[in-house]
Amino acid sequence: MFILPERYVLAHTPTPIEKLERLSQLFEGPEIYIKRDDLTGIGKTGNKVRKLEFLIAEALREGAQLLITCGGVQSNHARATALAAAKVGLASHLLLRDSAGSDIDGNLFIDRLVGAEVKFITPQEYEQVNDLMHHLAEDYAAKGMKAYVIPEGGSTALGALGYVLAIEEVCRQMKTLRVEFDHIVSAVGSGGTLAGMLLGKSAYGMQAQIHGINVCDDAPYFQERISNIIREAKRKFGFDLNLPKKDLNIIDGYVGKGYGLNRQEEIELIKLVAQMEGIILDPVYTVKAMFGLKDQIRKGRFTKSEKVLFWHTGGIFGLFPKRGLFF
Ligand SMILES: *Cc1c(COP(=O)(O)O)cnc(C)c1O
Repeated sequence: MFILPERYVLAHTPTPIEKLERLSQLFEGPEIYIKRDDLTGIGKTGNKVRKLEFLIAEALREGAQLLITCGGVQSNHARATALAAAKVGLASHLLLRDSAGSDIDGNLFIDRLVGAEVKFITPQEYEQVNDLMHHLAEDYAAKGMKAYVIPEGGSTALGALGYVLAIEEVCRQMKTLRVEFDHIVSAVGSGGTLAGMLLGKSAYGMQAQIHGINVCDDAPYFQERISNIIREAKRKFGFDLNLPKKDLNIIDGYVGKGYGLNRQEEIELIKLVAQMEGIILDPVYTVKAMFGLKDQIRKGRFTKSEKVLFWHTGGIFGLFPKRGLFF
């Protein structure tokens, strides 16, 4: 039996599940539903908010006065952390990877708005970002401030617990909606979300197969990274799950031009989904997952008689700095 530590409620849950009627018809495949984790909040939108509930509770238990985290310059995780910090009365310091010198737009605009301390670091420096964050925490400690460090994407075993609870939420929703999903499809960026879903599937006996579509790196990288998070969760929280790495479904092939970069087909798909369903996908994660889903339907992985739950993991602010690609 597993034991979950206390959390600090930040997300508006349960998030709705809706059917994408028109998109399902257009793709001529399974019935597609969408889990609206873009509605966990307005500013605090997206999957990181569920992870932060556990991470922030721990920071508060430890008496932290400040949160330190990292990410790309348009990091949804860093933005959600900065907002959540403001909400609970903590300061925040973000180390953001930036090669060009970015406009204060999208997520970075929100970071500034809520008063986060932002430091830009180069891609080379970012390779040692964990060391940098710990050095920064020591600098604060020397000034008498206790910092709590959150690794990239909040993808620790503790953060992943947010998605254990999210799976329990979907199990309850399947009962009330009288629908049974055969598959769940989600974007994968740092692995915590998928790790949590897999732990939740086993903990609550969910039947749906869980598929992650990676937006960077490759399948072996994420099988390793997610296995490590699962192993840590078993050790720390008592989960009982044996998942061979090969059963960890990562659907590779949709990174496209690279992390945070877009092909024109992806931009067109964002427009299509917006215009057919009134749903706004983000350019870094959810559009690549949707592109993968569409392509895998074409290739026959998901069939007409099945039901697929597409997990919208948020990220809307990342769209605005990309406006130039659209029209
Ligand atoms: C971070 C993020 C993901 C990926 O989640 P991980 O837990 O990092 O794998 C997916 N979608 C959005 C919008 C994100 O911000």
